[in-house]
Amino acid sequence: MFGAELLESGEGFALEAAVERSSDFLQHPVFNTHRSETQLLRYIRKLSDRDLALDRTMIPLGSCTMKLNATAEMEAISWPEFASIHPFAPDSQTDGWRELIEDLEADLTEITGYDQVSIQPNAGSQGELAGLLAIRGYHHSRGDLQRNVCLIPASAHGTNAASAVLAGMKVVVVATAADGTIDHADLQAKIDANKDVLSAIMITYPSTHGVYDADVREICDSVHAAGGQVYVDGANLNALVGLAQPGKFGGDVSHLNLHKTFCIPHGGGGPGVGPVAAKAHLAPFMPGDANKAAHEDGHGVAISASRYGSAGVLPISWAYVKLMGGEGLTEATKSALLAANYIASRLNEYFPVLYTGEGGLVAHECILDLRELTAKTGVTAEDVAKRLIDYGFHAPTLAFPVAGTLMVEPTESEDLGEIDRFIEAMITIRKEIDQVAHGDFTVENSPLRHAPHTAAAVVSSDWNREYSREQAVFPVHHLKQDKYFPPVGRIDGAAGDRNLVCSCPPIEAFEN
Ligand SMILES: *Cc1c(COP(=O)(O)O)cnc(C)c1O
Repeated sequence: MFGAELLESGEGFALEAAVERSSDFLQHPVFNTHRSETQLLRYIRKLSDRDLALDRTMIPLGSCTMKLNATAEMEAISWPEFASIHPFAPDSQTDGWRELIEDLEADLTEITGYDQVSIQPNAGSQGELAGLLAIRGYHHSRGDLQRNVCLIPASAHGTNAASAVLAGMKVVVVATAADGTIDHADLQAKIDANKDVLSAIMITYPSTHGVYDADVREICDSVHAAGGQVYVDGANLNALVGLAQPGKFGGDVSHLNLHKTFCIPHGGGGPGVGPVAAKAHLAPFMPGDANKAAHEDGHGVAISASRYGSAGVLPISWAYVKLMGGEGLTEATKSALLAANYIASRLNEYFPVLYTGEGGLVAHECILDLRELTAKTGVTAEDVAKRLIDYGFHAPTLAFPVAGTLMVEPTESEDLGEIDRFIEAMITIRKEIDQVAHGDFTVENSPLRHAPHTAAAVVSSDWNREYSREQAVFPVHHLKQDKYFPPVGRIDGAAGDRNLVCSCPPIEAFEN
């Protein structure tokens, strides 16, 4: 190996002239403006001050499980022992790493009730593809080459259909019943119509409608009876850990999202991990090593170029599982369910909860239906999402899985105080919607439509709105102690998506 002196002198690393870079690089001003540690520190602080992040507010994004990424869990990934290893380092240098990975895979196997786990996929969606390729490999190994139809309920996350198409399958959509569960009659009809070509069903449990489908075993049984395999999307595992196991209630294969349920930070990019977990009969088709031919090592094709995927962030999930222990993980699930049900029952009279399951309960998230209020007053779910920023909250998930709704997932990380603060904000917003209904101001001139309010907008001397500056920025009293001002006001999201404007230096600046 090379010593530090050698690295410094550059000896041993001499590059051929042909591959040495001669052009300028990192020319954007941001790379050349902050020259001292003081300046850099302030620059980073300025960026984080603009951000409405988890260190300031709950992020109640349904389906995303924005829970605490504890410092103690994250600390180790910056240690050189974890951070400085090459993905293709020889086995003799990775004993500890492999022990950690095997340990985590074993814990995830136990949690999910499957027979094996591969942490190779780099995202939930990649785990889906890995799982569907395993199903495909399984059917092909039995000579069932014609099995290529994948049933997907209408409520599914968009990645499900995309993964099925990538895996060479044909998507057949299954309808949703009035209560948000899978429509059994439609399911049976689609199974019957595709009996000989049925490859799999992809279900999400609890579903993206935020409810446990009480008939999930029956659904799995009818697909199995027709020769199909069951893929259980495990993105909602935060509602299952310690309470139910997809490998035990009918799943053949699932993905998990370690960047949701298992505390790896997400939402600002950064590596994710979407382990694929499966029953024993799928073992020969689980992700193999990219450096080996498929099936050379007893597994299928590689799903990611490196054997252990985003290994660098795995110590976070490992630490989470070990710190919590089995009892702690179960307790976390129960708290997440309690928090979601508390929000659903407190807000139901102001914003009706679209779907509830048995006993009128939701799972770990709930969908608030704004459509009737929108029809009556013109105030949209987007207006409410933007207005929440003025109250110091990150928006819930907007328009997914049902247009015109908000999906709220508090997770177990939020205490009663923060949840009550959110409920107070939502109830106060509902009163503002009533102000529109009562004609105090029109929707176009309401604090809802103009939200969020920047400091510049409310301090401006030509304030001529039909509501007061105070209502704009201090709609509830405690904001006077602790106020977040957004750096930008409302933009037309759809128009912006279609008309990209680059705020970088113009292309000509790169001409030489
Ligand atoms: C997040 C999510 C996915 C996709 O996971 P990624 O890690 O974002 O690729 C799939 N299904 C459901 C239900 C999800 O919530």
